[in-house]
Amino acid sequence: MRPKLIVGNWKMNGSRAANAALLEGIVAGLDGARAECAVCVPAPYLQQCEEALKGSPIAWGAQDVSAYEGGAYTGEVCAKMLSDFACRYVIVGHSERRAYHLESSGLVARKTLAVLKEGMTPIICVGETLEEREAGQTFDVVGDQLGTVLELLPLDAVAKIVVAYEPVWAIGTGKTATPEMAQEVHARLRAQLKARNGEAADGVAILYGGSMKPDNARELLAQPDIDGGLIGGAALKAQDFLAIIHATG
Ligand code: PEP
Repeated sequence: MRPKLIVGNWKMNGSRAANAALLEGIVAGLDGARAECAVCVPAPYLQQCEEALKGSPIAWGAQDVSAYEGGAYTGEVCAKMLSDFACRYVIVGHSERRAYHLESSGLVARKTLAVLKEGMTPIICVGETLEEREAGQTFDVVGDQLGTVLELLPLDAVAKIVVAYEPVWAIGTGKTATPEMAQEVHARLRAQLKARNGEAADGVAILYGGSMKPDNARELLAQPDIDGGLIGGAALKAQDFLAIIHATG
């Protein structure tokens, strides 16, 4: 059995005061939680997270990383800097970065390697747009996105990644994939991992993301290949985030 993993993606939200209240609220409500959990926060708040969460069951991480190791790349944050703040997770290839910052799957692959090199866990996002789904291209699109990353990964590294299936049409829209739709894609992604890495693929967590909320989380998380959630909007309210964490078992 794979343990469930619930990760909050705060996106570009937060302030020192709001974060303090949110983190305190989450920590206070964790009793009895079976899932592993983490928050991925804007880089300026990593130190605040480290101070607030050290010793708690909640891990923290970043939402993006540079593919470069360091040097003259103004505005970039490299993986070594993230590990300096004890990040466990780094989201790579979120659809907002692919869409607004024109990130290709090749770049996402290089970012994945940068994260692994520093001993952190990449959360590799894949997902199709509404047009792609309606054109029957979902499996081709997510298969290509994941395949490009896998091509660059050493064979033994697959056990160290997390994959997040996030249909673009479901992110921040209130539209959620049905549990069956999500399970179908997760099973295909698992089969793709298995075809390349055999049994090791059974240990890879594949998260669902896209308007996961307290009222739909239980059903989604009950699917055999949905190993947790990547949560945007609902991660900004302690009560909602906790309700999703507690929906795992
Ligand atoms: C996300 O940003 O990864 C996400 C899933 O957002 P939301 O839950 O708001 O759809």
